[in-house]
Amino acid sequence: AEPIDLSDPTQGPSIAPDQIGEPLVVLTGVDKYFGDLHVLQHIDLTVHKGEVVVVLGPSGSGKSTLCRAINRLETIQSGTITIDGSELPSEGKALANLRADVGMVFQSFNLFAHKTILENVTLGPIKVRKKSTAEAKQRGMELLKRVGVDSQASKYPAQLSGGQQQRVAIARALAMDPKVILFDEPTSALDPEMVNEVLDVMVSLAKQGMTMIVVTHEMGFARKAANRVVFMADGQIVEEADPETFFTAAKSHRAKDFLSKIL
Ligand code: ADP
Ligand code: MG
Repeated sequence: AEPIDLSDPTQGPSIAPDQIGEPLVVLTGVDKYFGDLHVLQHIDLTVHKGEVVVVLGPSGSGKSTLCRAINRLETIQSGTITIDGSELPSEGKALANLRADVGMVFQSFNLFAHKTILENVTLGPIKVRKKSTAEAKQRGMELLKRVGVDSQASKYPAQLSGGQQQRVAIARALAMDPKVILFDEPTSALDPEMVNEVLDVMVSLAKQGMTMIVVTHEMGFARKAANRVVFMADGQIVEEADPETFFTAAKSHRAKDFLSKIL
């Protein structure tokens, strides 16, 4: 693959606006409390098929909780969240299937330490998607190749670099054929020299039309790949805009303040 210049802000969004499809992830009036703390405050957010939404905001603003709520790793107190038209089931097999539709890549790579790289990628498809071992292995190898770690397939996670492990985590998410992938600060735990190898994979996924919700502090990625930036502060969506507008003409003082500290 060609190296991608993540610092080039002129590249535009991942897919043309007219290619953006129907609503896929829809949050309506979502409230989440931790005790007295109102962590998500009446969140309305629609992410369309093929869209790449980058979620920005200061630490503690609720970005991770938002991702976890979408994947039902956190319950919500009011409002609704639908994935492709269906509301999130609360438990059981239906929930396992829904979770498989919503891929998740975390800051810490979360690979199974005692499984090989290939096993990490085939386990979900075999258990949840009921694929045969042979089929899961074949697809798993294709995906490992796509993220550039196929030569590591029989190794264990600890034998790989952080950047390689995170690419395996992306392959593992892809192996479930998710409708959307949530990324929660996927490069924050990486040594700086490994950040781009992970962002490159994410940019290429974006270009291929994968629906993505990405919490990140990598402004180069936001500029390069986002169709839309959602800025959160204190549990609220304070501002939404296309990246160019957000980075050059943010309106709210919270967003301006945030940008002044990171740019
Ligand atoms: P961000 O990802 O934007 O840094 P989080 O979603 O992690 O923010 O956290 C939002 C707020 O919720 C913070 O004030 C955080 O301390 C609080 N919080 C997060 N998880 C929990 C939890 N399990 N119990 C209590 N408070 C929590
Ligand atoms: Mg977080």
